This record gives sequence, structure tokens and C-alpha cells, in this order.
Amino acid sequence: MNINYTLKRSRKRRKTLSLQISRAAEIVVSAPYFTPVREINRFVQEKQNWIDKIIQKQTRARLLNEKRKYISGELFYYLGEGFPLEVFFEPSERTGLIFWNKRFYLNAPEDREIKKRFFFLWYKQKAFEYISGRVDFYCHKLKLTARGIRITSARKRWGSCSADNDLAFSFRLIMAPLEVIDYVIVHEIMHIKEKSHAARFWKLIEEVMPEYKTHRRWLKEYDETFLL
Ligand SMILES: [Zn+2]
Repeated sequence: MNINYTLKRSRKRRKTLSLQISRAAEIVVSAPYFTPVREINRFVQEKQNWIDKIIQKQTRARLLNEKRKYISGELFYYLGEGFPLEVFFEPSERTGLIFWNKRFYLNAPEDREIKKRFFFLWYKQKAFEYISGRVDFYCHKLKLTARGIRITSARKRWGSCSADNDLAFSFRLIMAPLEVIDYVIVHEIMHIKEKSHAARFWKLIEEVMPEYKTHRRWLKEYDETFLL
């Protein structure tokens, strides 16, 4: 038995054992008052895979949510892959961010806000270039017309489609894997045809992208991550 947990015995509980994992990765087992510890240990043991999975997910979310430090070696995401940053200040050269040979080179003074701004502008530019191309591709394929495309600084929404078919995408989307970006694009374009999220909407999506549920799960899992 190598899992540490806190045990809560309760006289009110009838039969079932339950297990909870807090945000700080603490495991709490609630058990009926009269339960032998052997049985509780066996219960926890059986849940081991599930516990590992949850803790892994929590760790990943914490790492991705950590406030960016903008220091050399830190990973920044682009099209689903993490690339290391080299940061320095060379005043005789133009300041700014360059992505070259799988690395980010940031020439900027010691100021978090300035560094963050350079990244934001870079991501926004890349997002616009890539996403507008894909929007054209899918609009053509699906015979639908979008009024325009905007890249926003939204932290919570990956994309949206307004009542008059203006599409908006968060700059963060360009950090996601290609197939996930495509899914968000198809999703928003499909809202030109069907504004609701009723069953018929998901059917239309499925016709274009049979595996869309995997991408939806990805987006849920990484919601509010990839922040700058
Ligand atoms: Zn939607």
C-alpha cells in the first residue's frame, strides 16, 4: 500500500465507501464507521489507476496555468507543441520576438509586461494568418460565408460566431494542435447555418468531422490554460 490518504469514518454512512481528491492532491476516503481497514485499503488500491490519472491531470493543468515568467528555457506552445524560449536584451538590435529553428528568441528589456506584449502580438499575428486560411478553406468546402474574422484576447472562449456571422477566435487557439484548431473553426462556421447547440448542430459537425468529440474533450481539459 503506497497511497497516503485521510480516512473519515462516519456512523451516518450505511454501506458505500467513497474517495475524493482535493485540488492539492490530497486523498480523502469516507467510510462507514464499522469498516475494517483492510477493506478500505483494498478499495483505495482498486482506485489506483483512476487516482493516478486525476493527479496527472491536475499537475498538467497547474504547470500550464502557472504564471509565465518569460525566462530562458521556459516552454511556449505553438500548434500543439512546446518550444523553449531564449530571452536577452540586446539594445543595438531591434526588440521583439522571433521564432526560429524551433526556438523563441526574445529581445526585450527586463519588464514582464513588455515581454508578454511581444508574445501576445506574435500569437495574434500567427493566429490570424493561419486561422483565416482555414476559415476560407472550410467556408468554401461547406458553402457558407462568414462576414469577417477577428482574433481576440479572450481567456475563456476559444471561438464564437455572432448573430450576423462575424467569427472570433482567441489568440490562444494557435497554441492548440492543428486538428483541435480545425474543430473550433468548423464549429464556429457551422453556427452560420445553425445557431443553437441542438442535436442537429452536432450532427452537422459529425458529418464533417466524425472524431469531433476527442477535440471537444481536449478543449475542455485545457480550458483556461495557455495563458500569457
Ligand atoms: Zn458553439
